[in-house]
Amino acid sequence: MLSYQHAYHAGNAADVHKHALLSIALAYLTKKDKPLTYLETHAGRAVYDLSATESIKTGEAAQGIERLESWFDSDHPYKTAIQAARAAFGAQAYPGSPYIAASLLRDMDRIVLSELHPQEADALRNAMPYADVRQADGPALALSVTPPDPRRGLCLIDPAYEVKSEYQAMPVLLNKLHRKWPVGILMLWYPILTTGAERQMAETLRHMDAEKTMLSQVRFPPAKQGHGMIGSGLFVINPPWGLEAAAASLQTQFERL
Ligand code: SAM
Repeated sequence: MLSYQHAYHAGNAADVHKHALLSIALAYLTKKDKPLTYLETHAGRAVYDLSATESIKTGEAAQGIERLESWFDSDHPYKTAIQAARAAFGAQAYPGSPYIAASLLRDMDRIVLSELHPQEADALRNAMPYADVRQADGPALALSVTPPDPRRGLCLIDPAYEVKSEYQAMPVLLNKLHRKWPVGILMLWYPILTTGAERQMAETLRHMDAEKTMLSQVRFPPAKQGHGMIGSGLFVINPPWGLEAAAASLQTQFERL
């Protein structure tokens, strides 16, 4: 049974990195008047309450979005998504990646989300009744729906790495998805840990057989003494225009922490 719950971690520094870059990519894609597909393999519950016990307990949001929000101007697409969540769910709401996507996408776009945990999948359906939510294994679902219709689009892969074999499985999944959907933008998130458990995977990603790739890694102090996560990585196949520049500027901000 899955025990990971993103409620403990929502809005942490890694979410800020991942969500800010996801927003930039989607804002660019939606400039073109053509529909797209947004696909997510590990969606979570869409909206989090930063005043909830889980969030207070880890203190991760306090070291994340609550501290770093001033980095983003009011017209930054990440800020647009945060404001949309607050307007709909209250001042303490924080948008997960599916809600960020929904805030930036248009009626003509398609949203397909996979979340295996029954409670999280229910919460996701309640928060986003207009999305195609499947309580299913995300990697299997992504492989079964690609290439999607519409063919333009983006897939976010954001596992909890609760199962250690995910570090080996994710590059294999990316390879398969890229071969089935060569024009798709594929984003894989991973944590940077004191144990270095992600290093071998990051090395494999660097040698991925794809024409255009991007790797953004940022480091930050652990949210609390003894926390194992000290950074965040985002690997992208077919990064859209502007994403590398946004990643470089975000990296400068994180280096100042
Ligand atoms: N992407 C979300 C965000 O940024 O707001 C956070 C997702 S969280 C890191 C990972 C989620 O994947 C958890 O909600 C967990 O229940 C779910 N999960 C774990 N294994 C899964 C699988 N094989 N297929 C689909 N979802 C899975």
